[in-house]
Amino acid sequence: ELAADGEAAPAPNRTQDRSAAHVAGPAQVVFANEPDTDPSLPANQKWVREIIAEATAPGYLETRPAAPTVATTDDLDAMIARGRTAAQAWREMGAAARGEILHRAAEIFAARRGEFIAVEAAEVGKMPSQSDPEISEAIDFIRYYALHALELEKLEGAQFHPDEMVVVTPPWNFPIAIPTGGTVAALAAGSAVIHKPSKPTPYCSALIIDCLWEAGVPRDVLQLCAPIERELGQHLVSHPDVDRVILTGASETAALFKSFRPELHVNAETSGKNALVVTPAADRDLAVADLVYSAFGHAGQKCSAASLGIMVGSTYDSERYRKQLIDAASSMVVDWPANLSATMGPLTEDPSDKLRRALTTLEPGETWLLEPKQLDDTGRLWSPGIKDGVKPGSFFHLTEVFGPVLGLMHARDLDEAIELQNAVDFGLTGGIHSLDPEEVREWLDRVEVGNAYVNRGITGAIVQRQSFGGWKQSSVGLGSKAGGPNYLMLFGHYTDDPATL
Ligand code: GLU
Repeated sequence: ELAADGEAAPAPNRTQDRSAAHVAGPAQVVFANEPDTDPSLPANQKWVREIIAEATAPGYLETRPAAPTVATTDDLDAMIARGRTAAQAWREMGAAARGEILHRAAEIFAARRGEFIAVEAAEVGKMPSQSDPEISEAIDFIRYYALHALELEKLEGAQFHPDEMVVVTPPWNFPIAIPTGGTVAALAAGSAVIHKPSKPTPYCSALIIDCLWEAGVPRDVLQLCAPIERELGQHLVSHPDVDRVILTGASETAALFKSFRPELHVNAETSGKNALVVTPAADRDLAVADLVYSAFGHAGQKCSAASLGIMVGSTYDSERYRKQLIDAASSMVVDWPANLSATMGPLTEDPSDKLRRALTTLEPGETWLLEPKQLDDTGRLWSPGIKDGVKPGSFFHLTEVFGPVLGLMHARDLDEAIELQNAVDFGLTGGIHSLDPEEVREWLDRVEVGNAYVNRGITGAIVQRQSFGGWKQSSVGLGSKAGGPNYLMLFGHYTDDPATL
């Protein structure tokens, strides 16, 4: 490609030096995943050091745009009415024109990657090594849904009617990728959105919305409010003019929303209690590395995290497994993001009662393979813990704790391992490490999870390649998975279109 003056146009800056000016590439016509930052380049190491120095300086967040406060139910009513009015023009614009705006937003996200890393580090203490892929995922969601919205309009003889008003209530553990995903899915489908951030992460949400507005999404089509108290939240999700709520959070929250207004469409990604099965046919080094990363990445604060390692047969008593697991977990450097050598960061909030119990108590039959320690007086920094001898049907076997504790269970054979894995009420992610194709086939046939991973960690689903979603109590009202085909069909319905019949 030649620029006007005959000079070669600069290539889009995607994988290279992040500190160089970002050059927008053409809008995608075929989906491709956005690459993460290459941390081996010295220029990128310097770039991230400067970002973290700024983000961890006192008062950084106060320099950032904040989400506007909503004080009364009247404010919410006005937002809903404004959104519904604006939805009409947004819908009539068509998927291609909306997609152009969204592709522009993807470029803005890419150009402001450093700001996202800074805000997330300051707001919840997420390590750059964890936030960087999260930003790539957010960009992927935008491009993927912009492209897939075109498909919605292609069904012959039928017309897609998007919902008018969608409320998006994201979680705090992935405060960039998940809020972006829900919001842009609704926007791409043609709906207006009210985005209500999770309590700990209003600044991440404000940055997302700022990028989408900058790209050209009208401010009445996409509205942001600060986190609201329960009464106002109830008013919002019970409002008859809200068509749908997209929630990522606890199963209890989804049930609460439904109890407010039973006819409300709630599409919720909820809790998980996920296990990785390791059989004697596993590659041990790989299994240990994947188990430890899946359990302790982002301090275990992922719905997808491995909370249980189900060790089959001889792997359970194996001294080599035990030693490698202890070595791998205890060599993690646990610290705040200001320490760029850290491999595990803080909890976002004080431990919940369930997590505190998991971190500080042994249930009957359990012992510590590695006892977790509270590392400073904030209460949020804990070293990783590994429990041994978790018993079938016990608290730790069945309860999501959402923190840096891994429990090991013994299974006689693969059959029993699958039974233990399926005994939980949830069914989000799960994995097997085995190089025996028969075992893998058997496990895949029987495991009750939405995302089943083979010889890989069980976190970090990649848009399009591993669309993400659970079954059993890990999902409410879903049926298609985020970052996968047909997800956008959740945001409306088809009718016969007389004009094309
Ligand atoms: N999508 C994320 C993953 O695959 C997990 C999302 C969550 O924890 O809510 O790791």
